[in-house]
Amino acid sequence: MRRPLVIANWKMNTDLADAMIIANAVKNIIGDLDVEVVLCPPSVWLYPVHEIIPQALKNLSLGAQNMWFTEFGALTGEISPLMIKKMVKYVILGHSERRKNFHETNELVNDKVIAALEHGIIPIICVGEIKKQISARPKGRPTKIEENSDITKQLRLALSGVNSEDAEKVVIAYEPVWAISTSGSGEVASGAYANEKIEILREELARIYSRSLSERVKILYGGSVDDDNIKEYIYQPEIDGVLVGGASLKVREFVKICREAGGRE
Ligand code: PEP
Repeated sequence: MRRPLVIANWKMNTDLADAMIIANAVKNIIGDLDVEVVLCPPSVWLYPVHEIIPQALKNLSLGAQNMWFTEFGALTGEISPLMIKKMVKYVILGHSERRKNFHETNELVNDKVIAALEHGIIPIICVGEIKKQISARPKGRPTKIEENSDITKQLRLALSGVNSEDAEKVVIAYEPVWAISTSGSGEVASGAYANEKIEILREELARIYSRSLSERVKILYGGSVDDDNIKEYIYQPEIDGVLVGGASLKVREFVKICREAGGRE
């Protein structure tokens, strides 16, 4: 049984006071929950948030929202694995907002995945199609859009050159771009749709590595998850947790999501 994982992606939101309020609230309720929670603040708040999380609290940790793949250099504005590795357990890589707004390619995501693993940071690899697919398994020749957002291709390329020992450590976040709250589509993915897509990703892992490895890797769902719909996703057999954007900024709502995922609500 894979322990549920809840990732909070605050994106470019929160001031220091907000960051502390959310982190303290989660810290205060997490102790007796059977869930692992990862807070991903903006990089400038990593250190202060890190300082208030007791090391003894094993199921609460930090993640970075992104990082570059080399250790240092003339890369204005970037952060390197060396700078974050003492504070974070995870790093989100290949988020659709980075793919779209910063033109990150599957190859760059792969470089970052390899660098994260080399530095002992667990990559949370985001994959997701841009447009809703009526059938989760498209028939016939894919269009260019489908090809670029083919989730199995994104997964395969992100893991290119990663051996099975390392692949077992990664977390995958299936995030249909059209279902993200800020996408403007107004649509949400049903639990069944998300579950079917995640099954496809697990099959792909089994093809690349092995069935047993595919069953050990955590695959999360992300896209407009809130305290009302969390049950729709968390009880699906293939879904091992959720990546939460907007709702992770609302303290009470996010606490409820954590409790629900931990089976206490
Ligand atoms: C996201 O952008 O990763 C995300 C899941 O956002 P939201 O929960 O706001 O849809």
